[in-house]
Amino acid sequence: MSIVIILLAVALGLIPAFIARGKGRSFLGWWIFGALLLIVALPLALVQKDRRPRCPHCAEMVQTAATVCPHCQRTLGQDPERVMHGSAATE
Ligand SMILES: [Zn+2]
Repeated sequence: MSIVIILLAVALGLIPAFIARGKGRSFLGWWIFGALLLIVALPLALVQKDRRPRCPHCAEMVQTAATVCPHCQRTLGQDPERVMHGSAATE
């Protein structure tokens, strides 16, 4: 009986994990958090700010390690911080 509850918690913990991963957060950390405290982790994952940098060309969210924007196919800067600050970094 209790193994069913544990498996259910682990499975439901995937929900906040996928939401958080989509916002550039740790999948594993949010999976564990969601499995242990789903009632807290799920709303927190939903209200988390997106941590991914924006493409300076098209302003779409991109992965931190990306070197080419998947939306506009333009080359991104090597330094993620430069991408993060967009056109303000071209000084
Ligand atoms: Zn782009």
